[in-house]
Amino acid sequence: MTFEELKITRQFLNAIDDCGYAHPSPIQEKAIPRISAGQDVIGIAQTGTGKTAAFALPVLQKIKYAQDLPPRALVLVPTKELVIQVYEVFTTLGKYTDLRSIALYGGVGPKTQLEELEKGVDIIIATPGRFMDLYLRGGIETKKIKTLVLDECDRMMDMGFMPQLRNILEVIPSKRQNLLFSATFPERVEKLSEEFLLWPTKIEVSPQATPVATVKQRKSAVPNIRTKLHYVAHLLENEYADERALVFVRTKEQAEQISKYLERTISGGVRGLHSNKGQNTRLHSMSLFREGTIRVLVSTDVASRGIDVPETKLVINCTVPRNSSDYVHRIGRTGRAFSEGIAHTLYDPSEKMYMEAVESHLPGNNVIEECILPDSIPVEETPTWEAKQMAKDIDYQKRKADPNYKGAFHEKKKKKSSSKSRTRRRK
Ligand code: AMP
Repeated sequence: MTFEELKITRQFLNAIDDCGYAHPSPIQEKAIPRISAGQDVIGIAQTGTGKTAAFALPVLQKIKYAQDLPPRALVLVPTKELVIQVYEVFTTLGKYTDLRSIALYGGVGPKTQLEELEKGVDIIIATPGRFMDLYLRGGIETKKIKTLVLDECDRMMDMGFMPQLRNILEVIPSKRQNLLFSATFPERVEKLSEEFLLWPTKIEVSPQATPVATVKQRKSAVPNIRTKLHYVAHLLENEYADERALVFVRTKEQAEQISKYLERTISGGVRGLHSNKGQNTRLHSMSLFREGTIRVLVSTDVASRGIDVPETKLVINCTVPRNSSDYVHRIGRTGRAFSEGIAHTLYDPSEKMYMEAVESHLPGNNVIEECILPDSIPVEETPTWEAKQMAKDIDYQKRKADPNYKGAFHEKKKKKSSSKSRTRRRK
């Protein structure tokens, strides 16, 4: 199929040409005609499938040209990074039109954004919090909004945006077209869609939470964090030297420490990305990565959303994500735009269960290939603090899996107290 067959008009075809898209992706093929026909649409699409253009193109085409001051389309997304990424898609695809898009996100003062709004906009791309904030300041006229897009809806709910979404739904016109995009379709998202979509058409380009087929998935059992770091450095320096890579970790502290460690050990430039870093620092690191000035980003899940760099060859999960949709999102940062990528997950003994949980949610069996730790990698001894932490975590997981499980510590305590009472009795 071609974009012409999807009835995309010339000015957008030119922009598509500039982007180098030869054919519509499956989600674009399915979503564009329905959105253009004015239907409410639920799109279940994994990251990297071209879903942003799947809604941006018909929305831009419907709005056509700049008109009046108030906005006519509203796109809500969960994070600042995603606001910027989606905004870029809108401006790139709309570059041969006079349409005005604006990116609204928190972390910066509202003044500039309010001034921009006053000049007139056609499309708003915003996080729910900042949208509501500016609306309450009287900066957004909502009565002309005819299209609402909720992107990464599952993530928005995970991040607790439900109350803000409800408030927003109350202040925009009820007669409008609704488009809901989500990588997964859990019950909560389904309920929300029932609440405000009108006879929606559901489009699914692949089964729920499926990683893109172009990503080769690997995993390795590694005894502790220090050995993991040797392995990460080995992958970056030897196996994938010169390739753009993302390293995912669980906490801000890990992002900070590991990025510093890698800065010292590998070549090509490294930056850490997490929510404690200032907005500008984060955006700057991302653009350095995008340009290729730096080769490696070490990031937490929170900071990962807006990273859309097709050249990313390798994703390393230095810690196993705690749920399968985070896993799918993380590894979807590579293999983008139909090129091949590698996702390598390192799991310590306490993460074995998390690894199994992730795998049980993936379609097909044994899709993640087990790789043995190469001989060249020094295996460090696990320090006591880390062993203790792992034991605690394993205990927590067992308890969660089985409410009757009393825990290893419980057993120990019992043993200790009974041996104490035995010694007392002997006395
Ligand atoms: P998304 O799923 O919207 O995050 O898009 C993932 C990547 O696919 C982005 O880098 C887009 O530029 C790219 N992309 C979107 N549509 C197409 C297409 N039809 N052909 C090739 N690449 C595309």
